[in-house]
Amino acid sequence: MNPAEQKFKIQNLKSKIDWVAVEEEAANLLSRYIQFDTTNPPGNELPAIEFLADTLRRRDFAPQIIRSAPNRANLIVRLKGQAETTAPPCLLYAHADVVPADSADWSEPPFGGCIKDGFVWGRGALDDKGLGIIFLQALTLLKQFCPPLNRDIILLIAADEEVSGRYGAAWLLDHHPDLIKAEYMWDEGGVGLQKTDDALYQIAVAEKISLTIKLVAHGTPGHASIQNRDNAQDRLVQALYRLKRWVHPTRLTEPVIQMLQALAPAQPFPLAALFAHADKPLLWPLLQPRLKNNPIFSSLICNTVNLTMLSGGKAGNVIPARAEATLDARLLPDEDPALFLTALRSIIGDPKISVGVEDLPPPQVSTSPDAHFFRALSKTLQSLGSPGQVIPYLTPGATDSRFFRVAGMKAYGFMPMLLDNTELSRIHGIDERVSIANLRWGIRVVFETLQRLSDPNLDKPEPNRREVRSRE
Ligand SMILES: [Zn+2]
Repeated sequence: MNPAEQKFKIQNLKSKIDWVAVEEEAANLLSRYIQFDTTNPPGNELPAIEFLADTLRRRDFAPQIIRSAPNRANLIVRLKGQAETTAPPCLLYAHADVVPADSADWSEPPFGGCIKDGFVWGRGALDDKGLGIIFLQALTLLKQFCPPLNRDIILLIAADEEVSGRYGAAWLLDHHPDLIKAEYMWDEGGVGLQKTDDALYQIAVAEKISLTIKLVAHGTPGHASIQNRDNAQDRLVQALYRLKRWVHPTRLTEPVIQMLQALAPAQPFPLAALFAHADKPLLWPLLQPRLKNNPIFSSLICNTVNLTMLSGGKAGNVIPARAEATLDARLLPDEDPALFLTALRSIIGDPKISVGVEDLPPPQVSTSPDAHFFRALSKTLQSLGSPGQVIPYLTPGATDSRFFRVAGMKAYGFMPMLLDNTELSRIHGIDERVSIANLRWGIRVVFETLQRLSDPNLDKPEPNRREVRSRE
């Protein structure tokens, strides 16, 4: 069959896809998937993973369930490419665990999987069970409607993203790296941000380093009626006050420069010029105040430290021997966490306060947007999305991409959904839900992007086509 005939055959097959049936099936699958309570801790992902594996087996896939601890499991399934595959695999990744939800606050039960008003409701609908179902449906369509691609596509649904990755991504990379080794990895991290007239498609290429820091202040316990100059709680309060006044220097990192340069063409003067030349240190004094006052960029140009938990004391008239605080610190991707902790200890300056972290992460690696995958996804978004810009993005949140980047894979974070700020705030919040329209659109984005990834002509220039280009 010559290439023209083959292209016609594929188009013909693709036109047979019943998208209404695909979206209905996706909504029903997601509803059932949400009903497995995978709140982490403790996770308990195994029954949800078995449910997905059953679904895949009924579709003639051969999924593997890889257990990492009692009741903790990961699912791996591979769609084989052509017999003589020419490119290394692409890994689709979504996590099966979710953060806690208090049903008293919700309009619909968080683990009910209710389908109502065009939405699937429940914890994980967006983060990250919705993405898992989008990947699963797209993989099924590729198997049914497309000839084998020039690379294998691997789908990994992992445990334990919301806590540490110790039973999911990190564990798999340690114990079964060959099962998930890929050139590209598609993860959560960025999203299609719906604005009034257009959209901003943020594809995460890097992330800040997340550190959970525990402070424990030690002092002399005693009766609260007696003056005490060695009160553990007082020590802790003073340390927290010093940390609150710590001014974190602002600076640009490579992923933020790439973001600004991609955004430049759509900005008014003088912002367009400042963004376009963000790599020129001379312009930093003009650019810095603008970024500092911008809600998106303010967290992307410095380290942040936030107090998240406080505890100490059990009775109103007893001074306890210890008091504890937990801090959430997010560091710029090229910071050295060990040096940051040294600086934090010296700000606290109190030997009776211990500073600890459970795992000290290595400095982060960024993925270049100048890659075949980024271009394939950008082209798909421009052809299927509402008008908008595609930009590389530094995400302030943590994802499992960090493990895959350190392992040498090119990880990109993009949840293929168009969400406004209200819908986005439901992630880790109340009344999380995903529209069925977004499920359908997401499946199309993944389906088309993976085919484009196989297109050897993708990188050939198309001079007449207007296109948002990332910085080379
Ligand atoms: Zn997530």
